[in-house]
Amino acid sequence: MEQFNLQAAKILVVDDNPINIEVVFGSLGEEFDVYMANAGEKALRLCDKKHFDLILLDIDLPGISGLDVCKKLNLDENTRDIPVIFITAYEDEESEIACWEAGCVDFIKKPINQITLKKRVDAHLRLKLQSDLLRRSANTDGLTGISNRRHFDTEFDREWRRCRRANISCTVAMIDIDHFKRYNDHYGHLKGDDCLKLVAKTLSEQLNRPGDLIARFGGEEFVVVLPNSSVEKNLKMIEQLLESVRKLKIEHLTSTVVPYVTLSIGAYTCFPSKSEQADSALDKADKMLYKAKQNGRNRLEF
Ligand code: GH3
Ligand code: MG
Ligand code: MG
Repeated sequence: MEQFNLQAAKILVVDDNPINIEVVFGSLGEEFDVYMANAGEKALRLCDKKHFDLILLDIDLPGISGLDVCKKLNLDENTRDIPVIFITAYEDEESEIACWEAGCVDFIKKPINQITLKKRVDAHLRLKLQSDLLRRSANTDGLTGISNRRHFDTEFDREWRRCRRANISCTVAMIDIDHFKRYNDHYGHLKGDDCLKLVAKTLSEQLNRPGDLIARFGGEEFVVVLPNSSVEKNLKMIEQLLESVRKLKIEHLTSTVVPYVTLSIGAYTCFPSKSEQADSALDKADKMLYKAKQNGRNRLEF
């Protein structure tokens, strides 16, 4: 299994007192990638740009307080998994409870004990990176390394709702390798696996816009989602997917189409709405895929 690299972890330190920042930087700067912010707003802006693995947060900050920064981070799905450790001079029970309620994972008392700081940071970073790793492997198809069906379902659902809110179109394409059973029968299952890997890699390399999704839908089937583009552009993109695999010229002598590996694709575009559900879009794309097979394979039906 893939290992995580503790040293590559990114830590954000938020404190308006330069001396405190220096202390923290002094004990963590050598081992980790440490960033600094002297106000809550700045910290939140930095979090939009970078993916931090841990945040050390002062409670008393100019402008938005540390507690509010922590609450905001917890409300945003992009930042909610970042553990926050408060650095606090408060000793009273009420402040402690306020910290927990804001959603922190721990706190460190001022004046900072360097060893405690290091040990706490180390422990929480390990937990964070370990759970990132588990999440990644739960979302990834073991053979091809692209998203699996489970991850696709969640991502597609989110993308679908986003398109609905923004009133933009969404194109779904179901992709299936032609005569793949014959490929396995002729070249063996291991070669079949290699072929699947190469096709998955080639397809995903074609997609580079944010929001575009690709996943292994099952067996030798892939699914692609292209939100928000003109129908013409999407069709061009899907034709490109067909062409990218044709160009590989993976030998397939028992195919009835051409002597190399080809795809059939069924695509469907719509404006997501209450009456148009994500599942039914997949269903319609699948019907188009069936038509592409019927009409001779190695083609797109839309
Ligand atoms: P069509 O052109 O109509 O799609 O024909 P097909 O042979 O591709 O379709 P069919 O659904 O009959 O067969 C799909 C084949 O894909 C059968 C199965 O052995 C193969 N397959 C599915 N998953 C894997 C896999 O992980 N590795 C390998 N090597 N083969 C797989
Ligand atoms: Mg199939
Ligand atoms: Mg097939």
